[in-house]
Amino acid sequence: MSLSARLSAIDARIADAARLAGRDPAGITRIVVTKFHPASLVHELHALGVRDVGENRQQELTAKRAEAALDGLRWHFIGQAQTNKAAAIRRSADAVHSVDRVKLADALHGAADDDDVLDVLVQVNLTDDTGRGGVAPADVERLAEHVLTLPSLRLRGVMGVAPLDENPAPAFERLHGIAAAVRALEPDATWISAGMTGDFAEAIAAGATHLRIGSAITGPRPGRG
Ligand SMILES: *Cc1c(COP(=O)(O)O)cnc(C)c1O
Repeated sequence: MSLSARLSAIDARIADAARLAGRDPAGITRIVVTKFHPASLVHELHALGVRDVGENRQQELTAKRAEAALDGLRWHFIGQAQTNKAAAIRRSADAVHSVDRVKLADALHGAADDDDVLDVLVQVNLTDDTGRGGVAPADVERLAEHVLTLPSLRLRGVMGVAPLDENPAPAFERLHGIAAAVRALEPDATWISAGMTGDFAEAIAAGATHLRIGSAITGPRPGRG
């Protein structure tokens, strides 16, 4: 299947899942995760109409954005971020989905230029493994409140990755409840970034607004299988 056919097939499945959930597909943003693929793939995707791409490593984001500075293209940073990479991430990302601690929020804010505002999401750890990235559900509101004190960051919502060892549906339901608590603090925090190649239909059923889909669209990642 060609890239164009894979993209259309996924978009059809997104539309089906949305209808099944009684949702308007237009309310769902499909981010194509291009990590490990060359910038040429981003050019191809852009030519096919893709306007949202995702990267999970700062160096790759920075390099690829320089090679594919395309009209209307939005870059989403979705990976775990070291504080010392915050300034570089801020320079290259239009949205950061993975704010999971006060120090990282402060570093992103500290790297702001003038009146520049960055869209950010609080990443929630939906597993019991503290190494997997994301803030524990019990600490989400405290972190969200901190982000709301930083004028160069615009809190847009929450992000989550389903656990590997659990049905994704209940995990995404937990994320949906946490998203509502964050929206009570900030009405504009309407994004729920959830759902990947293997679980985007479950994420849509649980209210996801931003899907992060890689391999089903791009094919296997080079050197990663
Ligand atoms: C790689 C990645 C994705 C996309 O994964 P696929 O299974 O290839 O769709 C989504 N979210 C995050 C955080 C990722 O790192």
